[in-house]
Amino acid sequence: MEKKEKLYEGKAKILYATADPDLIIQYFKDDATAFNAKKKGTIDEKGIMNNAISSAIFEYLAKNGIPNHFVKKLSDREMLCKKVEIVMVEVIIRNRAAGGLCRNYGVKEGQTLKNPILEFSWKNDAHNDPLMNDDHITGLDIATAQELVRIKELTYKVNELMKKFYLALKIELIDFKLEFGRYKGEIILADEMSPDTCRLWEVGTGVRLDKDRFRNDLGNIKEGYLEVLKRVTGK
Ligand code: 5GP
Repeated sequence: MEKKEKLYEGKAKILYATADPDLIIQYFKDDATAFNAKKKGTIDEKGIMNNAISSAIFEYLAKNGIPNHFVKKLSDREMLCKKVEIVMVEVIIRNRAAGGLCRNYGVKEGQTLKNPILEFSWKNDAHNDPLMNDDHITGLDIATAQELVRIKELTYKVNELMKKFYLALKIELIDFKLEFGRYKGEIILADEMSPDTCRLWEVGTGVRLDKDRFRNDLGNIKEGYLEVLKRVTGK
């Protein structure tokens, strides 16, 4: 499948049209940004690693009943995907306190949670992706109440599946961000699932294996991604 015109360029990926109007190509870049693009850099071969990790995870999720946009991995940096209309909210699930939960609510990093916390934030860079509740989302016509029910149901299921998946690799899934899209009247999982969009702590050592190495200048950034790649794909 060949790339046609560029449809959209984001911070970490470029989307291209294909000859089939229902399919797009998602191209993974090495660019990394944090704190709403106030911090910018590149991580050598990040695009290759994130494409491989995301492809393996989308396959695992599809096998376990989670509809998603993945069709197939085309090359090192290219993934063929169903073309969706993205729902403009980021869906975050937290299993242990980190990042925004500590910043916004003063909770201590690493604190365990009695239940997973599901948060929505508006995909709106001009306003720093503000937190939203269900009424914001339906009131501003970002998604319908029925779509929200499905999004939450899928998100909790993905959390259970991914916690299990990573625990088998001796990694604790601290939190992650999902994006959903509309495809032929259905809500499906879209975007990517990689160390860019998850917090992953090594079991036992607490070593950070995700984008926090870049955000917080922890060093050995590529090595964190490589370790996840090795464990997820066995390569
Ligand atoms: P936090 O709200 O703590 O910054 O992020 C929670 C989780 O969602 C983290 O795993 C983080 O990587 C992911 N996340 C939140 N917002 C974004 C975003 O705009 N881009 C990416 N790549 N990940 C995000």
